[in-house]
Amino acid sequence: MSKLQTAVQEIADEMRARPDRGEVAHYIPELATVDPNQFGIAVVGVDGEVATGGDFDVPFSIQSVSKVFTLTLALGKVGDRLWSRVGREPSGSPFNSVVQLEYERGKPRNPFINAGAIAVTDLILSGHQPREALGEILRFIRFLADDPSIAIDENVAASEQRTGFRNAALANYMKSFGVIENPVELALGVYFHQCAIAMSCLQLARAGRYLAMSGRNPATGHPVINAERARRINAVMLTCGHYDGSGEFAYRVGLPGKSGVGGGILCIAPEKASVAVWSPGLDAAGNSHLGRVALEALTKRMGWSIFGA
Ligand code: GLU
Repeated sequence: MSKLQTAVQEIADEMRARPDRGEVAHYIPELATVDPNQFGIAVVGVDGEVATGGDFDVPFSIQSVSKVFTLTLALGKVGDRLWSRVGREPSGSPFNSVVQLEYERGKPRNPFINAGAIAVTDLILSGHQPREALGEILRFIRFLADDPSIAIDENVAASEQRTGFRNAALANYMKSFGVIENPVELALGVYFHQCAIAMSCLQLARAGRYLAMSGRNPATGHPVINAERARRINAVMLTCGHYDGSGEFAYRVGLPGKSGVGGGILCIAPEKASVAVWSPGLDAAGNSHLGRVALEALTKRMGWSIFGA
């Protein structure tokens, strides 16, 4: 067994046995029913090596991890103009915070907090029907993962649509400043559905490969995005990918990563590997508890931190 496969197996075994699992997200009723005893991990190396462990094949709700893919798409559509609508500074606030938006006149701090992600989705929606925008997002993710079976969990989308009052408040607030172009309910509808995309760790790690390969598609070698853009998306993931837990994640794991309240984390070791972990229990900042613990163990064993071995 390779060094990577051994590390992944041992980490998966260790995580499955741990009693500290965090709390599943309760504010989206459909996510509150997920069994917290699950743990999965998949690593796809830039050399093609694949290492998996635990429940790596079980689909889960990717939630905010989808924001990496919508950011990539929106940058492709409007280029750096995106940054006049959304900032790129860490927020230091909870993922669904309203207060900062008021101080900053409706401009979200970054594309990974909820307000910023809704504004990015609104950019993708402009000029399209919601169904077309959602189709574009789904097609892009299927293309990246090279897997046409990836789909939206309609129960999760409906659950969030019924209860997403905080996101509706954020979107309406931004609309009052002209940051949202389209009708609020349409932008929110696309956003809730993109968050409800279900993927396994293996599918997610495959979808993230372009960020570990300076923007190239591993199958063809052609660029999905250019190297500079890939580097910059990774930078925003490092500084903003874990809400107000981003500093802690950089300190412990030392890699760009994006978490979601479904308990998934996509983590990029540039020029080495794309890694996805999933454990539904969250810490106080809304990030997967065991997901972070597992990534810390992996980067330490493999010497993958971007800050040195
Ligand atoms: N759909 C979730 C929300 O908007 C995403 C939050 C997350 O994954 O962090 O509340």
